[in-house]
Amino acid sequence: MAEHVVIIGSGPAGWSAAVYAARANLRPLVFEGTVHPDMIPLGQLAFTTEVENYPGFPAGNIRAFVESAVASDRHYNLPPPPKGHESHYAIQGAELVELIKQQAINFGTRVVPDDVVDIDISCCPFRIISGSNPVVEAHAVIVATGARANYLGLPSEEKFKNKGVSACAVCDGALPGFRNKPLAVIGGGDSAVEEASYLTKFGSIVYMVHRRDQLRASKIMQQRALTNPKIEMVWNSQVDECLGDKWLTGIRLKNSQTGATRELAVSGMFVAIGHTPNTAFLHEKLETNDKGYLKLTRPFRTWTSVEGIFAAGDVADDYYRQAITSAGTGCMAALDAERWLVEQGL
Ligand code: NAP
Repeated sequence: MAEHVVIIGSGPAGWSAAVYAARANLRPLVFEGTVHPDMIPLGQLAFTTEVENYPGFPAGNIRAFVESAVASDRHYNLPPPPKGHESHYAIQGAELVELIKQQAINFGTRVVPDDVVDIDISCCPFRIISGSNPVVEAHAVIVATGARANYLGLPSEEKFKNKGVSACAVCDGALPGFRNKPLAVIGGGDSAVEEASYLTKFGSIVYMVHRRDQLRASKIMQQRALTNPKIEMVWNSQVDECLGDKWLTGIRLKNSQTGATRELAVSGMFVAIGHTPNTAFLHEKLETNDKGYLKLTRPFRTWTSVEGIFAAGDVADDYYRQAITSAGTGCMAALDAERWLVEQGL
């Protein structure tokens, strides 16, 4: 028998959609895969350390609460509390997503730990093809596979992820390891300027390292970067190597014109060179915008170009990209799917 609703993706959007769908007695089935080799189940948020801006979670004795709420057989999935302030800290990304997941499971959500590799949209119900499970039929589908930050692709960059290398200033910028230290932002677009401006609140100086001698960012954003006394431009430079022992202590830069290299001492490197939405498994069956994000076809609704398929979270959002907005659109997608199913008499 076909499922009422299948949710693909296991970040805040997917699990929030599941909470709402489950409470509407739709018994949602969530595909919790990795989506892309650079990703992990629970989405981008699971890469983040402390999340200080998700409403409802001020710093406190979070651990006791998390351990009391999340099923004990998943405690292995919870990162250890941040060293030095174990009993008072802001919730960590993986803890937050585990809590939303638990909430969805508490109301009857079922989980398939597998990646969807294709959806047959030629007829109704949709046929969902995954890596190693039997085909699942579903009347409605919610795509919540998120987006992944682009990185430079250096092995040394990989080594320092969460140890000085980040792709999200809003998530990580205020962490103690970055306070009053020299920081670098890589990129020359609006995101890079936004990240650099944000980081000036915490760092002693913020270097904007750009591979050309002109920013891609909009004029007003360029002005913001160029006139900020705490931002120093480093033109025509590409990161060649991330340096350090346990925590990042610097980056080696290569001049894109002369090839000359030099070292820049920084305690943080924030990569802001764009994001890529995780849509490969859709094989272009859903319409996207010019940046590859799923197109929502009705204002303030989560409908995609295929009726019965809804989208939530970063896979359809190249603008806000926050955990709270993802969770919000997950809720919207579940309500849209529920109402659509009722209209179809399903
Ligand atoms: P973007 O505009 O595509 O800029 C990416 C930047 O990263 C470019 O400067 C690019 O250099 C650089 N880059 C790309 N690959 C690189 C690599 N391998 N090594 C070094 N540098 C690399 O991306 P974005 O800044 O994330 O912005 C995405 C969209 O969101 C844009 O439309 C932007 O306007 C919008 N946005 C708006 C706001 C706002 O209005 N407040 C804030 C954020 C984002 P080149 O310039 O040399 O190509």
